[in-house]
Amino acid sequence: MLRIIDQARAFPSRYGGEEPALQGFAGGQRPSAMFITCSDSRVVPTLLTGVGPGELFELRTAGNVVPPYDPEHATSEMATIEYAVCVLGVSDIILCGHSHCGAVGAVARGDDLRTLPAVRGWLSRSVPPHEGGADVGDLGPDVARPVQRHVVTQMEKLRGYPCVSEAVRDGRLGLHAWYYEVHTGAVQAHQIATGAFSSL
Ligand SMILES: [Zn+2]
Repeated sequence: MLRIIDQARAFPSRYGGEEPALQGFAGGQRPSAMFITCSDSRVVPTLLTGVGPGELFELRTAGNVVPPYDPEHATSEMATIEYAVCVLGVSDIILCGHSHCGAVGAVARGDDLRTLPAVRGWLSRSVPPHEGGADVGDLGPDVARPVQRHVVTQMEKLRGYPCVSEAVRDGRLGLHAWYYEVHTGAVQAHQIATGAFSSL
């Protein structure tokens, strides 16, 4: 923790001291893209995309879950997405799952989550149980296939947001489903034409 405190203490001089970019932030933010991903510490959106402060509007949840749009039962995730599209007017949303995801892996393997009732509740509402076909023993440590299926499923829910579907229809918003390998740094993108993930 000491290292974290030292870094935060030095941040103004390290990043903002002579950097006019930070001073401009007093006037507001104009991020060009929204990045939705898992809370996992191995996934660092700004590092991965090479952008600095003010450029990515981030939403991070356990398992990069996108809840179905239901304003009667609004969640933080719904509000964040709506704000990004309707107020900030982001031109793109990147929805990024990752290899070795604990949340998706737990669902795919059918792990016993009784000691984690909040995690169990969140995932059971939002993630379909293990989709039949593959043997649980064949999932592999990276759980690549379940994660990729999961990203596509979350993207379909994202398309169900009125603000998103309207912006996509009007050509104001692009949607991108990514899969990130935490152990190689490689990124793959979902190709709608083939349904497969391939290198960016
Ligand atoms: Zn994860």
